[in-house]
Amino acid sequence: MATGIASTRNDRAVTVRELLASGKQSFSFEFAAPKTDKGERTLWNAVRRIEAVQPTFVSVTYGAGGSSREGTVRATERIATETTLTPVAHLTAVDHSIAELRNVIGQYADAGIRNMLAVRGDPPGDPMGEWVPHPQGVAYAADLVRLIKESGDFCVGVAAFPERHPRSTDWDTDIRHFVDKCRAGADYAITQMFFHVDDYLRLRDRVAAAGCTTPIIPEIMPVTNARQIQRFAELSGATFPPELADRVLAVEDDRAAVRSIGIEYATDMCERLLSEGIPGLHFITLNTSTATLEIYQNLGLHRPS
Ligand code: FAD
Repeated sequence: MATGIASTRNDRAVTVRELLASGKQSFSFEFAAPKTDKGERTLWNAVRRIEAVQPTFVSVTYGAGGSSREGTVRATERIATETTLTPVAHLTAVDHSIAELRNVIGQYADAGIRNMLAVRGDPPGDPMGEWVPHPQGVAYAADLVRLIKESGDFCVGVAAFPERHPRSTDWDTDIRHFVDKCRAGADYAITQMFFHVDDYLRLRDRVAAAGCTTPIIPEIMPVTNARQIQRFAELSGATFPPELADRVLAVEDDRAAVRSIGIEYATDMCERLLSEGIPGLHFITLNTSTATLEIYQNLGLHRPS
């Protein structure tokens, strides 16, 4: 049931563009779309804990298909109507016609959601497979940005890749396509996870050299489990630093020790990024809030409600 505060808030939901323009560094968290009732309960435990630290915004990823997509729409609507959080709804072009995309955008609008993250998505089943757009759909994220912008007064983010997109053959092409997304109307970008701060800084310099000033928020994924992080790094194309891998693998079976190394590494990355004047930090939570909240507290950012 919607609370009075949330209803008032969503009468004119604040945009990420406005929040970034305030000049304060933004702190945000990413949740994954739940697939089961149990997953939904886990997600809501994390949402409530993160709500208590009053982040700038939270985002919900868009699933590869079926029930997880419905889970994204449901969870984002619920965050918009039942919490004090500002939600960002992810949307992908995978397996959707333009009519279906318009329908999902309409559902988000009905729930008072004004912030979206437009990503192309990956070929279902094989992220590194050949990308084949839906015959009545859109081919690239830039087209999705245009479609969302044409559909209403939305604030739209896009993806950025500190180690360039895994399917891009060279940096110049990758940056050109990124800048195209920004010129299509993107208000901000969030990066793929990465483990070397210099990769983010080089991306920022390359984008600036191309004359693009769209704010790029770094995404941070703390290591909490050795196998999981290696799998994620493989899927996303992020290079796992050998020195971090050695430290983690040396204590692989001791989850508390892995977690502690991961939190320390991520905290160091965040401190350096913050000192470089980034627009904000976006933490991947995997729907378990504890590691990301610990980093948030290590950085001295904890603001109890
Ligand atoms: P695009 O910008 O379309 O780029 C994809 C590739 O095509 C790049 O190599 C680019 O250089 C190239 N390209 C772009 N335009 C053209 C053109 N005109 N001609 C030729 N080539 C072109 N995936 C999900 O399924 N759900 C999510 O919720 C989700 N959230 C994400 C959030 C973030 C912050 C990030 C970084 C990624 C997310 N992804 C998600 C993953 C994303 O869908 C994949 O990384 C995907 O491969 C790229 O998406 P994109 O939006 O960058 O695509």
